[in-house]
Amino acid sequence: SPGKRNYLIGGNWKCNLTLDGVTALVKSLNSAGPIPDNVDVVVGVPMPYLSLVRSTLRSDIEVAAQDSCVKTFGANTGETAATMLTEVGCTWVILGHSERRAGFNGHAQELRKGESNETVATKTKLAVDAGLKVMVCVGEHKQERQDGVTMKIVGEQLAAVKSALSTADWANVSIAYEPCWAIGTGLAATPEMAQETHSEIRAWVAKNVSADVAAKVRIQYGGSMKAANAKALLSQPDIDGGLIGGASLKPEFFDCVNGVP
Ligand code: PGA
Repeated sequence: SPGKRNYLIGGNWKCNLTLDGVTALVKSLNSAGPIPDNVDVVVGVPMPYLSLVRSTLRSDIEVAAQDSCVKTFGANTGETAATMLTEVGCTWVILGHSERRAGFNGHAQELRKGESNETVATKTKLAVDAGLKVMVCVGEHKQERQDGVTMKIVGEQLAAVKSALSTADWANVSIAYEPCWAIGTGLAATPEMAQETHSEIRAWVAKNVSADVAAKVRIQYGGSMKAANAKALLSQPDIDGGLIGGASLKPEFFDCVNGVP
């Protein structure tokens, strides 16, 4: 219906899949049937496979990177510039995932520090300026929810992003609310709990950015979303999609796509 936000279902493959696995997953997505008109679908692919996935995946699924470089071309060994992503047909990037905010798995903390709110915000601006759409992840840790400071934490994450962006930039941003305690644990937030925080996030955007942006911005839920809970989560008024990790590697990803109201 006019004015209603399209749903956005993102898959986050994380650091998974061999080349054979990628080929099999693309094949299964390509044969998964039509995508409902009110849904945008995007998959977050490991860097080395981006080009291959873009050239073999059905054209009605967009491709995202899972991070991008803080700078553009130049002396940044091992990094990827946002413009390189657009060169290979990538239209989205996931930024500020809690795994990146926490410091990188498998590397000593002193070698690979976690990303600050400001770093995530700077990267969001650089990505938008390079022509990418951004799923920017926010979310609280378990202790923070228990302490009742969820919106303080999420508000600080959003405030940094707000400072970096112009009001017009928000047209290319989706907020992925991912409570850290729900990621990869099998323990998704209940639809009621997620809805409550989503509505608080929308209210934060209305107050701090604009009422128009708040009405238009998509807020995806992430954290153990799967076929069994997608429908209930997606039927909440302020849940505009999902960011799906584990289940995005399986055929049930499309059950989530088809779970929209
Ligand atoms: P999960 O991951 O669906 O495996 O919990 C979600 C995410 O980290 O984006």
